Amino acid sequence: MVATPIGNLRDVTLRALEVLASVDVIAAEDTRTTGRLLDAHSIRARLISLHQHNERAAAEKIVALLAQGKSVALVSDAGTPGLSDPGALAVARAREAGYRVVPVPGPAAAACALSAAGVPSARFLFYGFLPARAGQRRGELEAVKSLPFGLIFYEAPHRVADCIADLVKVLGAQRTVTLARELTKLFEEIHTCALGEARAWLEADAHRGKGEFVLVVWPPAALEKSGLSDAAKHTLEVLRSELPLKQASTLAAAITGENRKTLYDYGLSVKRDP
Ligand code: SAM
Repeated sequence: MVATPIGNLRDVTLRALEVLASVDVIAAEDTRTTGRLLDAHSIRARLISLHQHNERAAAEKIVALLAQGKSVALVSDAGTPGLSDPGALAVARAREAGYRVVPVPGPAAAACALSAAGVPSARFLFYGFLPARAGQRRGELEAVKSLPFGLIFYEAPHRVADCIADLVKVLGAQRTVTLARELTKLFEEIHTCALGEARAWLEADAHRGKGEFVLVVWPPAALEKSGLSDAAKHTLEVLRSELPLKQASTLAAAITGENRKTLYDYGLSVKRDP
């Protein structure tokens, strides 16, 4: 499973190039797109196609190739295969058949957007694509709107404006969003604003309605701006280093007079795995 660039062709890793140059077969989502990447690095390879509509048959083909002793690399059009892209079925089939599946990590639009968004939270829900139909989209947004996490959405260029309109309707105009557009490409833009201002930003430049987008919705404001004093946060952090969060919040509330639930939610939002 080989990750490839999400725009800038120089973002391919040395290991990805080595693997792509050495395997017997490359299974590609679009053989022309992958062909351009291979050409840029003077790699000649046998390509087969594996996309959303033939994934089952292509997975069988890959397993048959593996059974013949061939090595197969799987790539998508951009980024990490299997991440909002085909690949999972082929991986499952190869594993079931007893073959080793090796991830060769590299670019992923979600991680790329997140790294430059500056969201004050350690916890995120990677949502990927919302449904294309507005009713379903709003329903799914209702289910996640109050989660104490940042939310990462992928969206097709022609649906970004509609998606933002629904985010405003369901999550509220005040919630903060980072719009990451055309990442690693010539017209890359990363803009943070209130959801209610996002439409005006999109419309301020005719090009902005186009291109690829990641939308990073920040956690609910109560967590972003918890209103806790630095002393209360510090007290919670000291207690947290020795105690479970629940107990630490109760004690921190007793010591500082702050609200226990606010302390607990703040603790959740900044909790980092060791
Ligand atoms: N497998 C890819 C990954 O690892 O990120 C995602 C593929 S998914 C079919 C395509 C979506 O990813 C786009 O609609 C957009 O939301 C996001 N995306 C991909 N490339 C991007 C880029 N250069 N800038 C912003 N978003 C991008």
